Amino acid sequence: MKIFKFVKFFFLVFLISACAGPATQRIFIDNEALDAETKLQQKLSLEKVKARYERLQKVGYPILKNSADLCENTINSLGVMFNAYVATEKYSDIEKEVYEIDEGLKLTFVIPSSAAFKSGLRKNDEILSINSIEVGEDREEFHKNLEKIRKKSETLKVTYRRNGVEGIASFDPDLICNYPILLVQNDSVNAFANGSQIGITTGMIRFAQKDEELGLVIAHELGHNIMDHVSKLRSNSILGTIVDLAAAYYGVNTQGIFGQVGATMYSQEFEAEADYVGIYYMERAGYSIDNVANFWRNMAVEHPGSINPSHTSTHPATPERFLEINAAIKEIEEKKKLNQKLIPNINKE
Ligand SMILES: [Zn+2]
Repeated sequence: MKIFKFVKFFFLVFLISACAGPATQRIFIDNEALDAETKLQQKLSLEKVKARYERLQKVGYPILKNSADLCENTINSLGVMFNAYVATEKYSDIEKEVYEIDEGLKLTFVIPSSAAFKSGLRKNDEILSINSIEVGEDREEFHKNLEKIRKKSETLKVTYRRNGVEGIASFDPDLICNYPILLVQNDSVNAFANGSQIGITTGMIRFAQKDEELGLVIAHELGHNIMDHVSKLRSNSILGTIVDLAAAYYGVNTQGIFGQVGATMYSQEFEAEADYVGIYYMERAGYSIDNVANFWRNMAVEHPGSINPSHTSTHPATPERFLEINAAIKEIEEKKKLNQKLIPNINKE
């Protein structure tokens, strides 16, 4: 005890003389409490990731589905998420808790615009079999078999259990554009398309609070993929016309995420095209597009650097984007009045 006091005294003297640390004592923390709090924070964080991922799928799914006829790259989708995709032991204790693993194969999310939802399947339904595939211990095997029947466009007959009662739901998988929507854990207000995926940052999810705003961003990125901007860019980039100034545009450093996902920035013309076709995808998906251009007013307020046009910027300025989107909305309204198919106008030059 005496030694302890001496050490403490010495430490204090040292601190005062060195002026290198806090002046007051550090509060003692019980290890058990620290451990519990750490686990709780990990759990809360994972729950948030899950909720954000589900919101992305909920908002993006009708866009991917209702423009499938415009996509060359399509896939059959079930529109549901399961609690486990691999063997149980591969999940951490916290993942087990958040995904509710160990209680059979369950649906953790059913996308509201999916055929599965319309057939009556709901979150928390326990899946017993799909067509001839019985759910066994081996989750990976189950998903491999499910993948096979999904690819064949077979009608699915799902046997499930809800509140102790068994039921059967039957539906055809949805044909959707094959561009998975990824959640990117990054605080910058950003999104990307790399020709095979769509990525949305957590910063963007926070910024695009209304679903139609998040939908606008997803539809824009889908536009880059459908209009094949990546391969067009590749040939452009040989000519050396690509300048990565996304960071300047958003006022944040985007190097990190674009580095990780290997996405490229597009020219102003491609950005304008993605905005234009994106509005069509939004309308097709059934979103209210009347006020969606306000997204760019909100962006201007939060990121004033995006208001003034600049020849070095890769993106059109926010006033241009606002007006161009409203012009596209007008064009769509005209087509609806004339009962015309909602397909973006082709450049006749
Ligand atoms: Zn873009």
